[in-house]
Amino acid sequence: MTRYDIAVLPGDGIGVEVTHAALALLQALGPRLNRQFVCTEHAAGAQHYVNTGESLPVATLDACRRADAILFGAMGLPHVRGADGTEIIPQLDIRFALDLYAGVRPIRTWPGLPVPLSDPRAAHIDLVLVRESTEGLFYARGRGRSEGQGADACVYDTMKITHAGTARVCDFAFELARQRKAQGKRGHVTNVDKANVFASMAFWRQVFNERAQAYADITTDHAYVDAMALNLVMKPWTCDVLVTENMFGDILSDLIAALVGGMGMAPSADIGQHHAVFQPAHGTAPDIAGQGIANPSAMLLSAAMMLDWLAVRHADPALADGARAIEAALEAAFVSGAVRPRDFGGPSNTADIVRAVLERL
Ligand code: ATP
Repeated sequence: MTRYDIAVLPGDGIGVEVTHAALALLQALGPRLNRQFVCTEHAAGAQHYVNTGESLPVATLDACRRADAILFGAMGLPHVRGADGTEIIPQLDIRFALDLYAGVRPIRTWPGLPVPLSDPRAAHIDLVLVRESTEGLFYARGRGRSEGQGADACVYDTMKITHAGTARVCDFAFELARQRKAQGKRGHVTNVDKANVFASMAFWRQVFNERAQAYADITTDHAYVDAMALNLVMKPWTCDVLVTENMFGDILSDLIAALVGGMGMAPSADIGQHHAVFQPAHGTAPDIAGQGIANPSAMLLSAAMMLDWLAVRHADPALADGARAIEAALEAAFVSGAVRPRDFGGPSNTADIVRAVLERL
């Protein structure tokens, strides 16, 4: 039986709860696909930092490097801070350490769940945001430069945009649009930047245009990030694939999650050339942690994205069948009315949703 080693980093808060939901699903799916998922949990996160002084131990990172894929819950606790006042965020460390340059954030409307936008076309939202994840403004993390004292104090965070970093994430977005076109979707990439103001963003746009030459089958357009924030609320059903800088992507990925009901329905993947991390787009949700009421859907869908990635990487289409089975079981659970997550005003706990999905798998 083909075996896949999955490094599992549950983390903090609801990260732990939704990770265990995903593990239950993978355990049930393995025998059905005739595949073995060997899932090994590793320590990391804000609580681990409190206990040991380390947020992402070397042994955990090494295990991630050795694994076929990495499944990640959520990390960070609001009261746990580093010396500079910022949160403990190992998910950023891992992106930089493993060079996971493409942050993939797909969202779609789910039949059976309420849609926040009243326009009937909102029933057809299906888009993917690709966020550059190794440079941009986040490159400044840990490198902020302070000058002066008191009333003269000034702090600089500098955005870094490279040709190579931009080209590879644009290529990723074009390839993704190609895959989606093959599935009957639009095959369109919108470049989101602020090229009218910043030299770094004008350069980003120039590189996007260069790379677009290689994808004559994919249509393109450009949007400034502020206008895109408006359009994503006014007419998100017109979008297919968006590609953008790290900080813009950080903000817009929360916005697009809201279009389909919130963070509980927003999966994500952070993909590099050799490694990939799959995690829900949400954080540790301290306000609901420990109650067993988190919506596990984003995590289950992240596990499906992991199966899709492994399917391509290992030329193992059965895993893609597994991904479709997860999506279909989740959709069937919502459409039947058997469950409605709490973040949609329903009564269902995490365990109820997992049970409903397992029954329909
Ligand atoms: P981070 O900074 O790590 O992104 P955050 O505190 O800004 O974290 P989240 O932890 O994602 O954001 O929580 C934002 C809101 O969404 C909270 O009210 C939280 O309860 C809710 N939320 C997030 N994930 C889920 C989920 N899976 N199920 C239900 N509600 C969720």
